[in-house]
Amino acid sequence: MKNLLLKLYTTNALTKDELLYLLTNIDEEYEKELFRLSDLTRRKYYSNKVYFRGLIEFSNHCRNTCKYCGLRTQNKNVERYRLSTQEILDCCDSGYKMGLRTFVLQSGEDGYFTEDILVDIAKRIKDEFPDAALTYSIGEKSEACYEKIFNAGADRFLLRHESANKKLYEGLHPNMSFENRLKCLKNLKSIGYQAGSGFIVGLPNQTDEIIAEDLLLLKNIDLQMVGVGPFIPQSDTPLCDCESGSSRKTLICLAIVRLLLPKTLIPATTALAVVSKDGWINGVKIAANVIMLNLSPPSAKDKYRIYDGKNLLLDSAKQSLCSTISKLNREGFVADMSKGNYPDWERNDNYEYNA
Ligand code: SAH
Repeated sequence: MKNLLLKLYTTNALTKDELLYLLTNIDEEYEKELFRLSDLTRRKYYSNKVYFRGLIEFSNHCRNTCKYCGLRTQNKNVERYRLSTQEILDCCDSGYKMGLRTFVLQSGEDGYFTEDILVDIAKRIKDEFPDAALTYSIGEKSEACYEKIFNAGADRFLLRHESANKKLYEGLHPNMSFENRLKCLKNLKSIGYQAGSGFIVGLPNQTDEIIAEDLLLLKNIDLQMVGVGPFIPQSDTPLCDCESGSSRKTLICLAIVRLLLPKTLIPATTALAVVSKDGWINGVKIAANVIMLNLSPPSAKDKYRIYDGKNLLLDSAKQSLCSTISKLNREGFVADMSKGNYPDWERNDNYEYNA
């Protein structure tokens, strides 16, 4: 195990078998070492900086039927909403005034938002906030559509692969294909987006071997952003009675992602905060360097029920900005309100490894 961790730290790579061995056999002592090496790696590129993003959940309509997600089309217990372009711009404006310089627009796969509307939203955000970055997280689209939105000003795109195992993926996503998911990710990268992907930890029937495949997929696509969060059952879905994913396993995965992709931007996910009280701050201490503040209007936040428990975290964005910054400062981190692009600098080798 010691050699494996050293190899991961020095080469930023492991084989599938090595990853599987690590995931299955890591004990408390080596877990501490993994977390230490991950933190050290993050500090080489980012020092103690944590970037902030403003999340706008602009529609909870969805044509898909993902078995874990409360926005699935068959869920009749969720009140559906859409924000207008003006409401989205108002959310951006309130975030901009707080100092945020990245807006992440997320929704279900909602056909109402046609290519033309998405292009218009991107142009208007870039017109009004030219020094801010725009990230879309709206699911699968054609290559041509991704390209038009990019040309209209979108800088980044988040599309988690959810699971790298075709059988598990297709079992959880009726009428969707794993190949298409991968094709979308490749298209996003080749168009020039800073692209993000990621997976869910603790999905029913997920094995350590599948997690090893998830980690390798992220490494192979060489993503600029990676989101990994625990599975949380949602009461109106077919997986409502399944157990949540563990925060320990999620933290181990985050640390491995940091070591495989040292420069990648990793958010401390809300899902991590839901499964464990200290979840997100532990995520930051170990590997994460991005915090997403929810800028959606209160009525929308409450209806964007991808999983249960999310609504317990409904502080206003301003409140959570202040409390998050003071928590970060107490742990020795500093908030960086800049755009926070994928770094074009090289690492700082002042952070030396001590065996
Ligand atoms: N429609 C967009 C956004 C989906 S919601 C898209 O397809 O990319 C954002 C993320 O929430 C998903 O990618 C999924 O990984 C996560 N998610 C949804 N339901 C979840 C659940 N029950 N537990 C944990 N994560 C969940």
